[in-house]
Amino acid sequence: MNKAYLGLGSNLGDKKRYLYDAIQYLNHHDQITIIKLSSLYETAPWGYTDQDIFMNLVVEVETSLNSIELLDICQMIENELGRVREIKWGPRVIDVDILLYNEEEINSDRLTVPHPYMIERDFVMIPLAEINPQLVIKGKTTKEWAQVFDEQALKIISNQ
Ligand code: ATP
Ligand code: MG
Ligand code: MG
Repeated sequence: MNKAYLGLGSNLGDKKRYLYDAIQYLNHHDQITIIKLSSLYETAPWGYTDQDIFMNLVVEVETSLNSIELLDICQMIENELGRVREIKWGPRVIDVDILLYNEEEINSDRLTVPHPYMIERDFVMIPLAEINPQLVIKGKTTKEWAQVFDEQALKIISNQ
């Protein structure tokens, strides 16, 4: 069995509903088991800041899918929920990214793992450290990575 961490985000429409629906897709997939969900966080836009605030969470899964098959499922979920890509890092109903897949380093056309921007993003590292503070990424634990961010800047809106 493989272990992966997924980063989910939404900043359009009924954000909580889109995140919930994405989790349901993952939950119903017969080759994916959800192990842990982080709290749900309200976060500032990153990269392209002239847009509505985001809701983000991180999901730990076990899966018999390989990394590309898992990416296919992430993109299927984005498509099913109606994601349209216009602006890079722009508004989206749902984003499902693979943050980590086992301890693999992957650099292919479609997939870069660990996710290339994850350690720069509070909305990834704080929820990830919440569900697994001891994971080591590039020589530091998620807890250590998360400490560089202002935790108060992220508002927990639900912890279930
Ligand atoms: P970012 O990847 O910086 O968070 P984004 O999530 O908005 O930006 P998308 O439009 O969702 O970017 O994806 C663009 C492309 O990124 C996809 O076509 C996908 O093949 C590729 N990609 C590379 N690595 C990953 C990864 N680890 N998880 C998800 N997509 C990835
Ligand atoms: Mg993303
Ligand atoms: Mg993405």
